[in-house]
Amino acid sequence: MNNTEEHEVIVIGAGFAGLYAVYLLRKSGFDVIALERGSGVGGTWYWNRYPGARCDVESLQYSYSFDKDLEQDWEWSERYAGQPEILEYAEHVAHRFDLETHIQFDTTVEQLDFNEATSNWTVKTSGGTYRAQFVIAATGCLSTANHPRFAGIDEFKGSLYHTGKWPHEGVDFTGQRVGIIGTGSSAVQSIPVIAEQAAHLTVFQRTPNYSIPAHNEPLDPAVQADVKANYEQLRVAARTERSGIISAFPVNEDSAKAASDLEFQDRMNERWDYGGFSFYRAYADIVIDQESNERVAHYVRNRIAEVVDDPAVADLLSPSNTIACKRPCLDTRYYETFNLDHVDLVDIADDGIERISERGVVAGGIEYEFDAIVFATGFDAMTGTLLGMNITGRDGLRLETAWEAGPRTYLGLSVPCFPNLFTVTGPGSPSVLTNMIMAIEQHVEWIRDCLVDLRNQGHRSIEATDDAADSWVEHVNAIADQTLYPSCNSWYLGANIPGKARVFMPLIGFPPYAEKCEQVATDGYSGFALT
Ligand code: NAP
Repeated sequence: MNNTEEHEVIVIGAGFAGLYAVYLLRKSGFDVIALERGSGVGGTWYWNRYPGARCDVESLQYSYSFDKDLEQDWEWSERYAGQPEILEYAEHVAHRFDLETHIQFDTTVEQLDFNEATSNWTVKTSGGTYRAQFVIAATGCLSTANHPRFAGIDEFKGSLYHTGKWPHEGVDFTGQRVGIIGTGSSAVQSIPVIAEQAAHLTVFQRTPNYSIPAHNEPLDPAVQADVKANYEQLRVAARTERSGIISAFPVNEDSAKAASDLEFQDRMNERWDYGGFSFYRAYADIVIDQESNERVAHYVRNRIAEVVDDPAVADLLSPSNTIACKRPCLDTRYYETFNLDHVDLVDIADDGIERISERGVVAGGIEYEFDAIVFATGFDAMTGTLLGMNITGRDGLRLETAWEAGPRTYLGLSVPCFPNLFTVTGPGSPSVLTNMIMAIEQHVEWIRDCLVDLRNQGHRSIEATDDAADSWVEHVNAIADQTLYPSCNSWYLGANIPGKARVFMPLIGFPPYAEKCEQVATDGYSGFALT
């Protein structure tokens, strides 16, 4: 026990959530340390360094709002910031607020045990043991890579990469034959950039995805100045939006299926030409009504057919499932890339990848030879990292047992039987369906206020009750069931990971959620037991 380092609060992770938690808790007088497995800050932007990695929320919105000087000083260079610029921003924040001195880098959390007698947590890591009364898991929603173990994977003589764990020194694909598995957001962003270098690129597609042009461009200084002059109003307005993101277009309350052909085409063309996710807010019922949804999906399929020269390839690239039900992609020249002579699309919808061989990938009985294979196969989203930390709560209950039927939280912040453990943007909170930085700020501020209240009132522990968690999970699912979201095999449902319980994990709608969190605190933490 001599070597156990004690703190009041341990934050796990030094991405945007961990950085803000350290900043805010230190400011409120807590003795806090963050444990980070990487050698630097940035979380998802530290690991996802694949070619073309870029945020799909516009940079003027995907940024912290907590410090007015930071907001004014930082200059974004593009409409959607690329990974290097976002990482630089995270590093700037850490440096500007002197946060690195409170972060233990290269430290992987291996085990968390709750001590009932003392109401604190023992945290075993690759770099020693820590103890703290409170633990804040700021571990991110997409931080455990899904790396399918295809048969023969160890036999491949070339190089293997995963978009979510990209080498820091970068990869030069010049002159190489490259295979990429997956067609989600990471693949859609990286395929056009890898194609610029590779001698030959083969894309293995299990399910086609809908992608909308991002229309990324250098940020007009006048636009940036205008936003900065009105930042406060913009942030306040964003928090009243379902996704926490302000659209350039007015919010429409009408139905896609009810629109005349001319009106529908005009509106969708305008949004397509503008780029970005405001496309999905063109009509109020796109993710609610199947007929409206299909009308929009049909529009995108027509667009794909216009861009892709070979009708057979266009057909393969055209999804038939519900649009926006899986996380939609934003792209820069994705569909155009399939017109290049050295880019091929291989359909693996029926039989998947058969195996990896010494020389490449075997699918549909054909061996494709590669110098490098890129896995763009996504993440064990929302729960993978939490479950990977060997967490044992009260009464010896392990988190994987508690979550056997899917994640069960109260407000996405707290789990019954796991006192004094908070999850930032956990399952059951709006998280991935919003601007993540805004959701992070709301969660971290709520947790800070809660810890201050506990301190002021002399409480040692806080724990979500079973009843509160049960009704919360029911509420999250009831809202999802009013939409088309649960109708396809998305990572929102855990459907991308074999054997994972199928439960819709994020909560739809930020404003009522934030209101509920506030109400819970005002009511003396209703739904929690305080001791
Ligand atoms: P993803 O959306 O889960 O896509 C993974 C891809 O790999 C899918 O095409 C999937 O096919 C395929 N795949 C998975 N396992 C496979 C297997 N065993 N065999 C063959 N194919 C397999 O992952 P992602 O592209 O990394 O994106 C994850 C999320 O990260 C995004 O949805 C987004 O929220 C976030 N992200 C955001 C950005 C951005 O800001 N622009 C960029 C990248 C990622 P199926 O569809 O058939 O499962």
